[in-house]
Amino acid sequence: MHSIAIDGPAGAGKSTIAKRVAKELGFIYVDTGAMYRSMALYFLRHGIPAQDEEKISEACNEITVSIEYENGEQQVILNGENVNGFIRTEEVSMMTSDTSKYPKVREKLLSLQRDLAKKKDVIMDGRDIGTCVLPDADLKIFLTASPAERARRRFKELQEKGEECDLDTIEKDIIARDEQDMNREISPLRPAEDASFVDASYMAIEEVVDTVVSMYRKA
Ligand code: C5P
Repeated sequence: MHSIAIDGPAGAGKSTIAKRVAKELGFIYVDTGAMYRSMALYFLRHGIPAQDEEKISEACNEITVSIEYENGEQQVILNGENVNGFIRTEEVSMMTSDTSKYPKVREKLLSLQRDLAKKKDVIMDGRDIGTCVLPDADLKIFLTASPAERARRRFKELQEKGEECDLDTIEKDIIARDEQDMNREISPLRPAEDASFVDASYMAIEEVVDTVVSMYRKA
């Protein structure tokens, strides 16, 4: 099986790029952030505070996460419920970063992610794909863009969905989330030693897609 890992900070455009590259190469796109988000949604719905590692770890035993595809779009199934419509709010984003640092939470999703890559050619995006989930990926990309640009994109995305949002808050949230994701003990956000850096700040989507596809073909 073939695989591409795309890691990088929040809002760099990983999912947009990964989806298009998947289409071009006939791979499956796996969004690992959505899996962590679904677990965070569970903790929020059950009123479990992010700081309570013990309760969060216990709750992990009550959670089953799986994914399905509908018209090529990944759907996250949390205990039998399709939660795609609930996991993209700012509240869930922050809760996800606050809880994805716990070993029990990460353990829960690691085997699911690796199993997917054993069965199909995948392009997987997240924070630790190149360093931890798929260390033998055929190509590893670390996708970045400036915080201001990433906040602008995220703002536009939320606005298009009709969600109330504020650009400054989003930029602050993105920076806080990256800080936390980079500085946690387990599987921090970090480029793999053999990752190629792509700075998408001044590139059009198509340009980034073409760059990744041609890197893959060369690799
Ligand atoms: O990519 P996305 O913004 O949906 O990720 C949400 C959060 O999930 C990240 O801020 C990070 O805390 C966590 N995450 C992770 N490892 C991954 C993917 C996401 O810890 N592979």
